[in-house]
Amino acid sequence: MSTNSTGGSALYRGRIVNPKIDGSCEDLRNGCLAVGADGSITDVGRWEDIKRKLSAAETSRTVDFGSQLLLPGFIDLHLHFPQLDCRGMYADNLLTWLAKHIYPVEARFSDPNLARKTAKRLLHELARFGTTTAVIFSSVHSEATDILFEEAARRGVRAVIGKVLMDEGQNVPKTLLQDWRVGMEESVALCRKWHGASDGRLYYAFSPRFAITCSERLMREAGAAAKASGAYVQTHVSETVEEVRLVRERFPHRRNYVDVYDSAGLLGERTILAHGIHFEDEEYEMVASSKASVVYCPSSNLFLKSGTMNLKKMRQNRIPVGLGSDIGAGPHLSLLSVMRDGIYMQPQWVKPQEMLAMATIRGAAALGLDKQIGSFERGKDADFILIDPSTLSGRWREIEADLNDVLSLIIFRGGERERIVTKVFVKGREVYRES
Ligand SMILES: [Zn+2]
Repeated sequence: MSTNSTGGSALYRGRIVNPKIDGSCEDLRNGCLAVGADGSITDVGRWEDIKRKLSAAETSRTVDFGSQLLLPGFIDLHLHFPQLDCRGMYADNLLTWLAKHIYPVEARFSDPNLARKTAKRLLHELARFGTTTAVIFSSVHSEATDILFEEAARRGVRAVIGKVLMDEGQNVPKTLLQDWRVGMEESVALCRKWHGASDGRLYYAFSPRFAITCSERLMREAGAAAKASGAYVQTHVSETVEEVRLVRERFPHRRNYVDVYDSAGLLGERTILAHGIHFEDEEYEMVASSKASVVYCPSSNLFLKSGTMNLKKMRQNRIPVGLGSDIGAGPHLSLLSVMRDGIYMQPQWVKPQEMLAMATIRGAAALGLDKQIGSFERGKDADFILIDPSTLSGRWREIEADLNDVLSLIIFRGGERERIVTKVFVKGREVYRES
């Protein structure tokens, strides 16, 4: 490594856990992450190997975190900004829960003061739990969405954000429905302003809520606008049995739920589909051939008793799957808690290493950003977090020998109520530190 490549840079020592797309993780005890002045990774490896390549002046810029874990920042592929304070509200199914708790609260986001306060708090909380990239549904309000982008830019995190599109549907308050032309005009204006902004850390997602609150015209327009701009599409699909039945009734001329979106031109490699729990075999194949990604939101699925994603079929069909907190149906913003629920929910154990891969490199792949974030490789952006698990168990010295045990400890014991994430960096810049 030349002096130039680390000019103004830093070296971070710790136990580096580097997830791979196959679900395994490289475990580098006494590892080192070298970060350049531009926030990119200039080297990663064992400290002894990296030290040998450097001058004394360069190694003087070393920050030593001892045996703390140095992981890629977490990637949350699905959450709802206005639902931060609706978490844990009782209703016995998705559609009742939306009508009773969610729509009335989302309507309040016409107030820019509420939007500003909530955006600041959401972004602080995401950073506190180690989430460095978040894919976020805003409300239907253009101003609230603009405010969320502004705060994300100010905080320095990475985010994909979209204003909700809804133009028809039962049980939706009139104040949340917009004529498709207005919804699209506002979405396109936000996309022009924010897609690729903030040094490429912010992206726009056209965001039809789901097929039972959108006309075919609106969905077609959203698909076309996303293709024209290179922006993302995010929506919900096949979350509950009741919702699937309603979609069948509403679109009898379509083969299935996925076909409603496919026919509207909404599916492609920049499409993020939340849930996909009740797919028929043909739907797995359609999603796979469209190259869209699906988000596993186990905490939300447990809370609303929506059902269990068939991870095995997703793997068999080579569909990219990442993790989502799906707050407010999901009660936890911490992806460690979501990983825990993800393991609890499956009929067989999913290895802790694979859950970590889903929360990092596979999430990055789902966004098409795996050349840039999600793991540690030379040239990628340095989005990383430090975790200190030593306070979680009196047997820490025995446990730390085995990486799956360490990851299992932080997944099952280190979630929402613990403060084990000590520092968070995005593109080499600190965005959170535990005080
Ligand atoms: Zn959702």
